[in-house]
Amino acid sequence: MNQYCFGVDLGGTTVKMGLFDPQGSVLEKWEIPTRKENNGNNILPDIANAVLGKMEEMKITKDSVIGVGIGVPGPVDDKGVVHKAVNLGWEVMNINDVLGGLLQMPVKAGNDANVAALGEMWCGGGKGYRNMVLATLGTGVGGGIIVNGKILTGATGAGGEIGHIHIEDDEPEACGCGNHGCLEQYASATGVVRIAKRKLEASNEDSVLRKALENNDLSAKAVFDAVKAGDKLACEIAETFGMYLGKGLAAIAGVVNPEVFVLGGGVSKAGEILCEYASKYYQKYVFHGCKDAQFKLAILGNDAGIYGAAKLVLE
Ligand SMILES: [Zn+2]
Repeated sequence: MNQYCFGVDLGGTTVKMGLFDPQGSVLEKWEIPTRKENNGNNILPDIANAVLGKMEEMKITKDSVIGVGIGVPGPVDDKGVVHKAVNLGWEVMNINDVLGGLLQMPVKAGNDANVAALGEMWCGGGKGYRNMVLATLGTGVGGGIIVNGKILTGATGAGGEIGHIHIEDDEPEACGCGNHGCLEQYASATGVVRIAKRKLEASNEDSVLRKALENNDLSAKAVFDAVKAGDKLACEIAETFGMYLGKGLAAIAGVVNPEVFVLGGGVSKAGEILCEYASKYYQKYVFHGCKDAQFKLAILGNDAGIYGAAKLVLE
């Protein structure tokens, strides 16, 4: 008999869904809108209907479905309890029970960033490893930590929140979390721009980035494009960025001793050069017992969430 599992990635505007086989091939991929009105009370029934509808369409029976995994934007503990997913209007809710009740099938929920890490380990940049840290360098810095093949969830589901590791004592601006000097303030896409603006202000050196700043076009991509073109000031910006990222990852390594760091998110579009900057400073700061960790780019992009969610139910 065929065996299937579903992976669901619940986001603030859309729900991404995938039908998988247990080997990690995606058989069907589709999306439905996230209806947040009514305190988000339509969301799980909508997901249940989408899963059941797909099963009918594909003539899949319940006894051939292993389960439905779901990644949720908020802290989720090991029992599937989400503690306030503010973006969705949810208070405290056990997703495994509620969605499982609607579907009459096994359901397993996790935090979306942690679930994405599991996806990258299953079929992406961390394939073949069992101890991995995913650092998602986007607007902020998110992450997920996998130890011996399992997500490090922590007591309240806040495990893997690597973006708010304290990294700098002299930061005048506040981070979104209220603290000062978090990793996210330097190693995110907005962080690269923050570093770039400060460097441009502090020197008179010629750089293609001055024009980008004037045109309101200064971005992490512009910085790394300039690095590849040999722009000296851009290279200094990348060194500072790499220093903060390498320092943060070295601190994480001292706790979890990963085999591989997988770098994802918008900043990772810079390519292999990103791994070079991160690895250079990682080597400088890390405890010698953790020096062998590899650096790889994430592969699955926005699909990491559905892959990881599907993998959740295969555990
Ligand atoms: Zn912070």
